[in-house]
Amino acid sequence: MAGPWIAALADLVLPRTCAGCGTPGAVLCPSCSGLLARPRPAAPRRVPWGFPPTAAAGAYAGPVRPAVVEFKERGRAELAVPLGAALALAVAAVVSAVPGRPGGPAPVLLVPVPSSPAGLRARGRDHVRELTGRAVVELRAAGLPAREARLLRRRGRVRDSAGLSVAQRRANLAGTFRLADAVPVPGPRALMVVVDDVVTTGATLTEAAAVLAAARPAGAPPVLAAVVAATPRAARRGRPGADLHVVGDRSGNVRRGSGDRLSGPAGSD
Ligand SMILES: [Zn+2]
Repeated sequence: MAGPWIAALADLVLPRTCAGCGTPGAVLCPSCSGLLARPRPAAPRRVPWGFPPTAAAGAYAGPVRPAVVEFKERGRAELAVPLGAALALAVAAVVSAVPGRPGGPAPVLLVPVPSSPAGLRARGRDHVRELTGRAVVELRAAGLPAREARLLRRRGRVRDSAGLSVAQRRANLAGTFRLADAVPVPGPRALMVVVDDVVTTGATLTEAAAVLAAARPAGAPPVLAAVVAATPRAARRGRPGADLHVVGDRSGNVRRGSGDRLSGPAGSD
């Protein structure tokens, strides 16, 4: 277990630099943090059917990209603080788009996308859970009744799809996620927000949301999603907005963004 010791020693010996732009000082300088302080709707270039209403704290571009990579792949775990704060902003934004209901603020459940076994082995940690934990701290400090809910698990095999809707069937066939065993299903008032680091094609969020939606009682608000960053795409002039709607039930529409849409080309999420 020399890794943490070496990292701690490096912190003492080497000056700390911004993971985004390399400026000496904070782990993420104010300028780079500012790129993750304006949450907006995120939609992939080809929106998968069933893609949940999603907010991103910023674009996965410029200094944001190395900052996320340093955190995710190079073990700079201290970046969980600024990146978790960014995720909290995205969660707050997507939750605020759902109209209020009687009975006070609804509980907000952050459901982390589980890392793949290969990812866990390679990184030795679950970076999305680290982000989720920090985001919960931020949201609670802001007065939102938020908590982490580990409702999703990875799985390896496909179950019988009899009796499933089209969306559920696709999720089942894709077979990436299942509901966790022995976790109480949240009540109908709870707002469920799938959280991840980056959205690109939207396939992961779509699958995760479908699994969760299948477990929601009738009349419950739709499953939402929030990410630190979304792969950007160029806005197409003259095209109708592809911003997000909350489909179904009485929850209305997600507030529309300012027109700078996020998402990206096909690739891995
Ligand atoms: Zn910076």
